[in-house]
Amino acid sequence: MIANIAYVKSVMGELKAKKKFGQNFLIDANIVDRIAKNACDPSCKTIEIGPGLGALTEMLLKYSKAVDAYEIDKDMYELLLSGIQDERLTVYLTDFLDADLSIYKEPLHVCANLPYYVTTPILFKLFESGLDLRKITVMVQKEVADRLSAKVGSEDYSALSIEVQYLYDVKLEMNISRSVFYPSPNVDSAVISFSPKRERDLSFEKGFFELVKNCFRMRRKTLHNNLKDLFDIETIEKIYETCGLKENVRAQELSLDDFLKIYEVVR
Ligand code: SAM
Repeated sequence: MIANIAYVKSVMGELKAKKKFGQNFLIDANIVDRIAKNACDPSCKTIEIGPGLGALTEMLLKYSKAVDAYEIDKDMYELLLSGIQDERLTVYLTDFLDADLSIYKEPLHVCANLPYYVTTPILFKLFESGLDLRKITVMVQKEVADRLSAKVGSEDYSALSIEVQYLYDVKLEMNISRSVFYPSPNVDSAVISFSPKRERDLSFEKGFFELVKNCFRMRRKTLHNNLKDLFDIETIEKIYETCGLKENVRAQELSLDDFLKIYEVVR
């Protein structure tokens, strides 16, 4: 079993967990088993981001048809390949943000204990990939989990919250104590899952998400200020009139429906 402290310490030897890659290894096999069982489907391949020593990979293989894992750190890549011999496992030594996901044509599941420093770009990449992702299950810092389910008007409400609301039903699967990691991080974590709630329409989404990100570009500024680099004054007036917006409204005060109405006007 890879998810235990004795194994982790013995294979790491002189190596130190690398903070710059957000390395905190899972050392509680029961928790890892529960996460994997809930995240996978035996008829589907699972993509894992940041397999590290393979604590989660081992359990994903138990519950999936096959696993493709993307690891940025050569040390981890080598330890993983020497720790797990399974022909259903493919490991890519690459930054997931550079990975070419167009190789996937089939339905997939995603499961990862995400490196905290790059959580948001990884989630954007997955959400905007256009892949047929039947379920995405990720472990993230508790505060990121809160941000993903942030409500209109709250400090945490962002372009990511809108994308998530538009595409997925989000579920908090479990809270995770910092004691199940080695080394132990300074914050608690949570496992959340995303299940698609609509048919994808990629060309619509591309324009819509770009608009939403632009509206949040300068959070402290009014919506008007963020829109004025994108559209002429007539279009902006039409947006305010059609959508019944207050003059000084900011992006974080607008609901998903408001953004959809704005997009209808500018499309
Ligand atoms: N999955 C292992 C576990 O749960 O024990 C390790 C999780 S650790 C929080 C994050 C892992 O992601 C590390 O192995 C780290 O090297 C890897 N990683 C960090 N940035 C990455 C990136 N941009 N692309 C792929 N892997 C990355």
